[in-house]
Amino acid sequence: MQITRIPTNSHEEVLRVCDDATGLVAFIAIHSTQLGPAAGGLRMKPYDDADAALCDALRLSHGMTFKNAAAGLPLGGGKAVIMGDPGRDKSEALLMAVGRAVDALKGRYWTAEDMGMGPADMAVIARETDFVAGRADGPNASGDPSPTTARGILNAIRCTARHRLGSGDLTGRRVALQGLGHVGWQLAGLLHEAGAGLIVADMDRARCDTAAGAFGAEVVAVDRILSVEADILAPCAIGGVLNAKTVPGLRVKAVAGGANNQLATPADGDALHARGILYAPDYVANAGGIINVATEILRIDDRAGFVAEKLGEAEATLDAILTRAAAEGLAPHRVADETVLARMNRAAA
Ligand code: NAD
Repeated sequence: MQITRIPTNSHEEVLRVCDDATGLVAFIAIHSTQLGPAAGGLRMKPYDDADAALCDALRLSHGMTFKNAAAGLPLGGGKAVIMGDPGRDKSEALLMAVGRAVDALKGRYWTAEDMGMGPADMAVIARETDFVAGRADGPNASGDPSPTTARGILNAIRCTARHRLGSGDLTGRRVALQGLGHVGWQLAGLLHEAGAGLIVADMDRARCDTAAGAFGAEVVAVDRILSVEADILAPCAIGGVLNAKTVPGLRVKAVAGGANNQLATPADGDALHARGILYAPDYVANAGGIINVATEILRIDDRAGFVAEKLGEAEATLDAILTRAAAEGLAPHRVADETVLARMNRAAA
């Protein structure tokens, strides 16, 4: 296996990992260990080329620094990506090679599931390294993070509703939900229980039909969900959905959801603000997943207590961000970034 260090000014350490025997080509990016060991999932995707994979690792690891800091976790930001189709190219030997590369970092980077990976894959990686979380069993195993992610998003939706709609009571509110996967499905159930009416869209029509039956959800086509009239939009599918094309057509009062990197660019957050659409910064709203994973990394025995406390803190952080944004007429994503940088500067002092 060849591990090559890639020169970087933006990150602490970036590695290219190649293993001819297993066909592995991966990048591990450690953005920051200022607050603790870098933590962030392992993604496997058929990237167009190595540059695209490297870019993804750099962008996502940077995002993890912000997410972990916003959640008040003693963790830095990192991410790993494997080039390849998980359905075709994933093998135990390849995952074990990744495990050896993670192990060579001696705990500076902790990996976990991301797109294309599941708890069974983490169990294979764990044969080669202790620095892996999101396992189904083992010491302090944290399993699927999605239910905790969804709980955190529900809190964020209530908080955003309090600020924008005057009440966190979701009874009778209309929520447009994009994506009914691991997170979106859990969130749909929680919103239904909270009395909200759902408008849903997913590429998988069967999931929409099940949601219609289970939650009385109104189903719309995937190309309509970003322009339906609703109180709140909850993006829970893919990144970049808030962009120059979609923001002008939104007919909601607020956006709060689970997808990572919802804003295509920071300017799209400014455009939301200019339109009076209150945006709950994604990395604050969706921190439940990493909070769940952190219980395994930090070997927390009282998992339920830790998760409840940290979810409460994440909601308080969002509340403070939205309060300051309103008081100073600022866009919340700008306030969120400033809040995180101030936390990191305090920790460095
Ligand atoms: P998932 O793959 O289980 O679900 C995604 C769903 O979105 C799928 O059902 C897919 O069919 C649907 N989808 C894809 N493109 C769509 C489109 N254009 N319109 C409508 N539906 C579409 O993923 P997930 O684990 O539920 O994660 C969803 C998002 O939340 C991702 O952005 C992920 O990075 C983020 N996130 C997840 C977690 C977690 O705990 N799983 C934590 C934090 C953030």
